[in-house]
Amino acid sequence: MDFEYIIVGGGAIGLACAMQLSKSSSSVLLIERHSNFGVETSSRNSEVIHAGIYYPEGTLKSKLCVAGNKSIYEWCEKNNVPVKKIGKFIVAVNKEEENELSNIRDNAHKNGASNVDFYDIQKFKIEEPNIKASSVLWSPDTGIVDSHKLMESYKNCAEENGASIAFNHTLKSILKIYEGYKLEIESGGETFEVTSEKVINSAGLNSDIVAGMVGINITENNYNLHYVKGNYFKLKSSKRNLTRHLIYPVPIKNFSGLGVHITIDMNGELKFGPDVEYLESRDQNYNVNTTLNVKFFDAISQYVIGIELEDIYADQSGIRPKLQGKGESFRDFIIKEESNLGFPGFVNLIGIESPGLTCSLEIAKMVESFFVDTSFN
Ligand SMILES: Cc1cc2nc3c(=O)[nH]c(=O)nc-3n(C[C@H](O)[C@H](O)[C@H](O)COP(=O)(O)OP(=O)(O)OC[C@H]3O[C@@H](n4cnc5c(N)ncnc54)[C@H](O)[C@@H]3O)c2cc1C
Repeated sequence: MDFEYIIVGGGAIGLACAMQLSKSSSSVLLIERHSNFGVETSSRNSEVIHAGIYYPEGTLKSKLCVAGNKSIYEWCEKNNVPVKKIGKFIVAVNKEEENELSNIRDNAHKNGASNVDFYDIQKFKIEEPNIKASSVLWSPDTGIVDSHKLMESYKNCAEENGASIAFNHTLKSILKIYEGYKLEIESGGETFEVTSEKVINSAGLNSDIVAGMVGINITENNYNLHYVKGNYFKLKSSKRNLTRHLIYPVPIKNFSGLGVHITIDMNGELKFGPDVEYLESRDQNYNVNTTLNVKFFDAISQYVIGIELEDIYADQSGIRPKLQGKGESFRDFIIKEESNLGFPGFVNLIGIESPGLTCSLEIAKMVESFFVDTSFN
């Protein structure tokens, strides 16, 4: 075998896996089809370190997020990755939403996000004069991170451990062979084959297709992804003092997102988003339709005071690799070693949407635990 591990995809998840697996293996290769890391979903998100508030109790999303919240801050501190624990308010604007806040708080506590609680509304009104609310929850452990620097730190650490990272390398096909897998890879117009004992499929928006390449029936196993775009609008720099915290509305029930919220980037600029737009095709079209400004303005006007339509302009977008179809109920991350399907050593990471960035280190540890006895770590 040429390698012990080949990781497909150089986003936050693949890079975290390369870092983690290269601690105990000197034979790790990561391939990425673009000329750099994190070009797709990992650099097109809100960069929020989530606390694990909303996800159903006992799911991977809730467990890995609560653990990831802690481990990401520790990692960032150790590796000089810019991070700010600025905290988040969830704001209710009517009686119905106020009742929902109690459910959200209870769910957070069940998940282990025990610092989430009601905040004194009078104090809030003084601290956040531009935000409308009749009741608020405060999550002090929610923060923001420089996602590029985070991925760079994973990459540097993986390379220091001896892992190889190959950009401009695209996986074309995979064949199960006697002791592992044969991968057909294309680079610079040439195609060649490499073998690996184990394969980690962290191909993000392509992860269902990569699972299909090895021979897994993705429809039978419910691995099909939906592409769900999230658009962002930015606030004029002159209005950036609107708030110093992340501000989230109460999410709409059975909605596939957390509602158009206010995020702050590491430079202090304010963004609104992401919305939820199920795409018809699998084209990765990241253009933001400027006419969405009215919809965004209406959404944020529910809880923001003192901005005009002219204060916001189209910014970036990202595409969620979602397992949950439109109107369907909650789907968890798929993080599976596929021996049961006849593919030992093949790990699928599918549907790694939000809070994937927050969970990146924990997902990598879980992948490692499929192969390495980590009980002494
Ligand atoms: C709008 C939006 C907002 C979000 N906000 C947050 C947030 O605030 N906090 C949070 O924790 N999470 C957030 N997320 C989720 C987070 O961004 C993702 O979970 C995470 O980035 C997924 O990383 P990944 O490595 O799995 O995927 P990606 O970053 O997409 O990486 C996959 C890589 O695989 C490569 N690839 C695909 N096919 C092949 C092939 N055949 N050969 C070689 N390479 C291939 C791609 O080029 C890509 O670089 C958000 C996501 C979106 C879309």
